[in-house]
Amino acid sequence: MWLPCRCTSKTMVTSYARRVFNSYFRVFGRWKCNVAALMPEAVGFEGVKDCSSLQEFSVSNSASFWAAAARHRLSWIKPFHTVQDCDLSLGRIKWFEGGQLNVSVNCLDRHVHTCPERVALIWERDEPGSEIKVTYRQLLEMTCRLGNLLRRHGVKKGDCVTIYMPPCPLAVASMLACARIGAAHNVVFAGFSAEALAERIRDAQSRTVITVNQGVRAGKVTELKRTVDAAVKDCPSVQQVLVAMRTENPVTMTAKDMDMEEEMLKEDMVCEPEAMDSEDVLFLLYTSGSTGKPKGVVHTQAGYLLYAALTHRYVFSYQDGDVFGCVADIGWITGHSYSVYGPLANGGTTVLFESTPIYPDPGRYWEMVQRLKINQFYGAPTAIRLLLKYGDQWVQKYDRSTLKTLGSVGEPINTEAWEWYHRVVGDGRCPVVDTWWQTETGGICITPRPSDPDAEIVPGMAMRPFFGIKPVLMDTEGKVVTSNPASGALCLAQPWPGMARTIHNNHQRFIETYCQPHPGYFFTGDGAYRSKEGYYQITGRLDDVINVSGHRIGTAEIEDVVNQCSAVAESAVIGYSHDIKGQGVYAFVVLKKDTDDQEADLSQQLNNMVSKKIAKYACPDFIQFVQRLPKTRSGKIMRRVLRKVVERDLDGLGDLSTLDDPAAVQEIIQGHRELCGKQQPS
Ligand code: AMP
Repeated sequence: MWLPCRCTSKTMVTSYARRVFNSYFRVFGRWKCNVAALMPEAVGFEGVKDCSSLQEFSVSNSASFWAAAARHRLSWIKPFHTVQDCDLSLGRIKWFEGGQLNVSVNCLDRHVHTCPERVALIWERDEPGSEIKVTYRQLLEMTCRLGNLLRRHGVKKGDCVTIYMPPCPLAVASMLACARIGAAHNVVFAGFSAEALAERIRDAQSRTVITVNQGVRAGKVTELKRTVDAAVKDCPSVQQVLVAMRTENPVTMTAKDMDMEEEMLKEDMVCEPEAMDSEDVLFLLYTSGSTGKPKGVVHTQAGYLLYAALTHRYVFSYQDGDVFGCVADIGWITGHSYSVYGPLANGGTTVLFESTPIYPDPGRYWEMVQRLKINQFYGAPTAIRLLLKYGDQWVQKYDRSTLKTLGSVGEPINTEAWEWYHRVVGDGRCPVVDTWWQTETGGICITPRPSDPDAEIVPGMAMRPFFGIKPVLMDTEGKVVTSNPASGALCLAQPWPGMARTIHNNHQRFIETYCQPHPGYFFTGDGAYRSKEGYYQITGRLDDVINVSGHRIGTAEIEDVVNQCSAVAESAVIGYSHDIKGQGVYAFVVLKKDTDDQEADLSQQLNNMVSKKIAKYACPDFIQFVQRLPKTRSGKIMRRVLRKVVERDLDGLGDLSTLDDPAAVQEIIQGHRELCGKQQPS
């Protein structure tokens, strides 16, 4: 057998682990539980006899739990000496110190040793039926060639490479090649505009960008290389752009560009992996916060990988040989953790989905499930709500008998969508796991499974904390609420290995955002309800961040763009409840006095600006021009009032006596009625 990479015997996974995993699921299938089968490394844990006692143990003996999992599930070059050194009040988070490993070795080499021809990736290309399968051996070869190419061009440990690509094997190989040579990656969702991309490249100080000539989605070609060209013009740090060919159409190449695949062919198939410290940076991923500037959330090596692997295995009951279908784009954290790192660390087969839920028709997902024999399907509520409207026949046309678990991610799933997903897609026999988590948590934190085999699942609720997670609710005075039922600000009371470590170049912002609001706790920014049974349900963001089709966007980011229009005096952007997208974007805009542009032209202009500076998904569904915004006497915009107007909850407007000019509200109510009467949201 060809062994493409040098790696020590330490990096080999034991087939014992696999046998035990299989028996765990067989045992679960018979509604019994035995700890060795459930989690082999948990056998010595005192008092652990089933899943719920294991969860309790993982929280009260966090260090023992995570040490055992890390030793058992990761291949180390050098063992760690300290399991954790964390102080949430100071924003200090360190796991597995002293340990060294290489993430790409964990995701590739150890599986190549045991099962080189196992399929690692199924690239579900835009055109149905044109999927491409990549084995672990092939993916390792691709990764090594690319790692060598990057090294030859000066990329080294500690650098950060920006990746602007749609989901495809070369994008995964790019991520893993960075991990192999010790560079961090910064994947930017390929729907972001040139300006948004440039901002992220500059903040990450990338010298190297990897992209494709064109993207293909829903039958349409997008000029991704052209977007990169425009971005790179404003990024003096960029010295080289590697361009892979997704289509056969040639693109103009500049002096900085190189044909990635052609150059890869010149490289060796063996690439020595860099020994990385547990706490070295693995990647940055930019996400929106409550200011206008996106933050580069930093994840590190060992803790992130372990958490992604463990959650992938247990939340979805992933068994060896299963085909895991996460349809998220790799540009988001879901794509990172559950299309790439979790499944590959577990030696799984993972689908990379390039298309959309309704291309070429609304049966796309389920035709794909039938064709690829997908066992776990993981998607977003916005797509489920959309497909529900097209009717059951698009689902029932296809054989979905391979499905075992259905997952939901990114935003709350309403009961109607949950029930349809369960009853129609899953034929009432697959557990639906609503998974709550965020870019900052690295992996799933609250979700109905794993739990004891007969444990109930309540529609539309994320329900139970994962191993090692201790959620708490805070009241408005910052005290922990202990009674049930209750609502409050959702915090996590102790650190876990998958959590973000900092914000790139701005640890102070990390501390202020996540650690200071409730000292000693990680503040999630979400509100939650806890039922009398102790189950959690996420109620939405507490800050000025909205969630459009599962994509996070800060209202301040949109306002910043709108305010750049020369005719605009000021603006206020809020989220409102939207049937399909979960939340839509509603902008209130005050024009400068001397403006004589037509409102319709300005609306168009503002939409174009948001699309150009951020991305299409951030464009307002409604733009209401108003004379003034409701403000307090100290000049603060009362967003609560705007929200109530848009929700048409005029009885809930509350106390308006602190407003500087209460008459402004009446004008806004009137304008809102007129606007919504004549315009349907996009
Ligand atoms: P992101 O970091 O972009 O993945 O966005 C994370 C945010 O999405 C969370 O803070 C929540 O507001 C929301 N979210 C993610 N998953 C869920 C869920 N299962 N239920 C409700 N909200 C969710």
